[in-house]
Amino acid sequence: MAENVAAFMENVIAKNPAEKEFHQAVEEVVESIWPVLEKRPEYRKAKILERSVEPERVILFRVPWVDDKGEVQVNKAFRIEMSSAIGPYKGGLRFHPSVNLGILKFLAFEQVWKNSLTTLPMGGGKGGSDFDPKGKSDLEVMRFCQSFMSELFRHIGPNTDVPAGDIGVGGREIGFLFGQYKKLRNEFTGVLTGKGLNWGGSLIRPEATGYGAVYFAANMLETRNETLEGKTALVSGSGNVFQYTAEKLLDLGGKPITASDSSGYVYDEAGIDREKLAFIMELKNVKRGRIKEYAEKYPSAVYTPADPNADHNPLWDHKADCAFPSATQNEINAKDAANLLKNGVYVVSEGANMPTVPDGVNQFVDAKILYGPGKAANAGGVAVSGLEMSQNSLRYNWTREEVDQKLFRIMKDIHDASAAAANEYGTPDN
Ligand code: NDP
Repeated sequence: MAENVAAFMENVIAKNPAEKEFHQAVEEVVESIWPVLEKRPEYRKAKILERSVEPERVILFRVPWVDDKGEVQVNKAFRIEMSSAIGPYKGGLRFHPSVNLGILKFLAFEQVWKNSLTTLPMGGGKGGSDFDPKGKSDLEVMRFCQSFMSELFRHIGPNTDVPAGDIGVGGREIGFLFGQYKKLRNEFTGVLTGKGLNWGGSLIRPEATGYGAVYFAANMLETRNETLEGKTALVSGSGNVFQYTAEKLLDLGGKPITASDSSGYVYDEAGIDREKLAFIMELKNVKRGRIKEYAEKYPSAVYTPADPNADHNPLWDHKADCAFPSATQNEINAKDAANLLKNGVYVVSEGANMPTVPDGVNQFVDAKILYGPGKAANAGGVAVSGLEMSQNSLRYNWTREEVDQKLFRIMKDIHDASAAAANEYGTPDN
């Protein structure tokens, strides 16, 4: 049995070579829960930690499909069924060219801890494909999704494994996937969450991750008797999490001043107001355009293209009070974290999964700013997915207000539980 974190990690790395994001995610968790394990030898004896880093099952499959030119394309696809200890496997599907086994294992591993924090009965999983929906026609996306589900359907089910969306998988993709599942199984069940309202979706599910990250920030600020009113916020991404983070910030009197995609970012000192946010939603969800077009429409904004050789991301180098990373993993490196602190940012609430590198996290903790790690701060999405599963089982829909209140309550409980654990295990106020 490993005697310390370093020995434990040596074993994980040896058994899972070349999966660097998985190593990073495991190390972060193991470091923070080691003090708990030291107090609970029965967990060590039962090898709970060793079990938690081995997926219960990994499914790897091919997805052949035909593009609009009549050419056959072949993608790789995965479903990581990490843990069903407290409920069916639950976690999103990611369609992005960077997807590989290590990235999905990191996401599935984090999902297990996040789902248990919601207190809802959900195990953890994650899946996806290296398929890139960008630049594909609706019909190409449909053919891909149908082929993907033609294999996945035999592994999932409302009491077995309930996938949802993630990067590159939104309402359109979930609709195609659900349609194919229903056809193959001849069953209308809650097998996916994030569904459209007409086929069993929950109100507030699209909003939940972004709203939840902002509720989490508001809870952190409350510990210092402050609110989001008048606070400026750097927000990255321009997809689902970005959009509803920005919307809830505006609801609570905050001012988002940035947005990005993988090509670059816009800085709008005047603030992204409701009209500008509606423009981004139309641009990204309907026209499927690039964020650069925002700066062409609004002269108050400055567009900066992404520079893959730069040692930092200039989005994080503006004066602000808060930061809501909402794009992807490791988008805040050590220099970015230093820039955030230098620019006066003292609230970081992670909408994305593992957006900050470990050195950056250490800087936030050492600076004693209000830092909400993704596993807690972005749990709102899966929490409302859990509520969607409950509504599907009940065959009953709660109102928008009912779901929003439950989300608000869950985010508060997660915040309070995290703060209590931080106090108990030696990092009070963080
Ligand atoms: P979307 O696909 O809707 O949006 C992702 C955004 O991030 C896009 O603007 C995209 O730009 C940008 N992005 C993606 N990959 C990169 C990259 N490698 N470099 C730079 N920019 C990138 O995804 P979501 O908003 O759903 O997800 C965002 C983050 O939130 C992810 O980390 C996801 O795991 C996490 N999350 C999502 C939840 C959900 O409910 N949707 C729940 C919990 C966490 P482009 O279009 O150019 O690629």
